Amino acid sequence: MKAEIIAVGSELLLGQITNTNGAFISQKLAEIGVDIHYHTVVGDNPKRLDEAIAIAQQRANTIIFTGGLGPTKDDLTKETIAARLGVSLVSNEEALTEIQAYFKRTGRHMTENNKKQALVLDGSHVLPNRHGMAPGMAMEKDGIRYILLPGPPHEMKPMFEKEAIPFLLGVLGTNDVIASRVLKFYGIGEAELEDRVQAILDKQTNPTVAPLASPDAVTLRLTAKAASRDAAEQLMDPVEEEIRAIVGDFIYGMNEDTLSSKAAELLLNKGLTISAAESLTAGLFLAELAGEAGISASLKGGVIVYNEQAKVEQLEISPSLFNEFGVVSKECAAALALHVKRKFNSDIGIGLTGVAGPDPHDNEPVGTVWIGIALQDGTVETYNLSLSGSRNANRKRAAHYALYYLIKHLQ
Ligand code: ATP
Ligand code: MG
Repeated sequence: MKAEIIAVGSELLLGQITNTNGAFISQKLAEIGVDIHYHTVVGDNPKRLDEAIAIAQQRANTIIFTGGLGPTKDDLTKETIAARLGVSLVSNEEALTEIQAYFKRTGRHMTENNKKQALVLDGSHVLPNRHGMAPGMAMEKDGIRYILLPGPPHEMKPMFEKEAIPFLLGVLGTNDVIASRVLKFYGIGEAELEDRVQAILDKQTNPTVAPLASPDAVTLRLTAKAASRDAAEQLMDPVEEEIRAIVGDFIYGMNEDTLSSKAAELLLNKGLTISAAESLTAGLFLAELAGEAGISASLKGGVIVYNEQAKVEQLEISPSLFNEFGVVSKECAAALALHVKRKFNSDIGIGLTGVAGPDPHDNEPVGTVWIGIALQDGTVETYNLSLSGSRNANRKRAAHYALYYLIKHLQ
């Protein structure tokens, strides 16, 4: 199978939106072993869309379209494909009934052009749209598969995963199930991670193991193909174990976990309360935690103590500590953590201090960070970072590292 993705939409060409649909579909196709040879982006223009299809027909046997299935004048994808394939558009009863029900439910008036959304390519397999009105389509003609998907990502993604993938697997002649799991890392760079698991990456077949790095996280995605979901999970288990044996220390969670969701989950499961004193990050750490539903059972509060005076007044830290060690120091981070824990009477106290940049501070270079974590037993652990980003990247990373160390402690 040689696939090409054609994303339709003038906003894509104008740079008003990014072609995230193309990236999503590519990732999902790669997981089932389909090669993607080309991505095309074309505007809402029937002539140029027709040309793009003609080119794709020469070099792909599976063409996947997103966008332009809506009711408005500029939505021309299916009309253009119908004309090129010499297939007519017919009203699909099921789709029409659903659209009518939608309008009844929402009390809105249905216009003539909404009926257009129930038109499908004659002979196509209709892909139901559970999150919108325009149905998708899949059909095969003269040895080429055509899959039409709506533009809005929240409609396209579930349709692609639940309807288009099974269709493609059927074409590939397999009843296999695809399962995947994502291991999430922090505190290790992409290059180092790849280096350390290179032997596993080299021998991967089923499951496949794919590294992916975003600005603030590194992940490994395992994807297995097998006759059943259980069988696919069983194929992944030993590979995950092998990875954990090498770099498990840097794994903080899986799948949808984020640093803050994992930290919140652990705090809540263990019934522990927390507070934080933030200098460098001025509330970023607390804001991340507060983004997690249910955290009020654990998060007591915190203080932003940006300058020295605030640290003394809000937390009763002795000024002599700053004279002796400076505000960007192990001692200061430990004092922030211990004093805020006491002030809020929480089980855990977090302290964050450092130099965000662009200028050095207190004789410490830009990017120096100290994190203190005061624990239930009255002890305090401190961590030192040397970050190399911009001012706000450093502040954000410091907050994330604090979440990461907290998770590691709680695990
Ligand atoms: P609608 O019924 O909403 O009109 P449609 O299938 O006609 O859906 P478009 O009109 O092409 O789709 O796009 C609707 C919206 O979907 C766009 O404004 C954009 O926000 C999003 N979208 C479209 N194509 C893409 C894409 N390739 N990547 C990401 N988002 C997209
Ligand atoms: Mg549209």
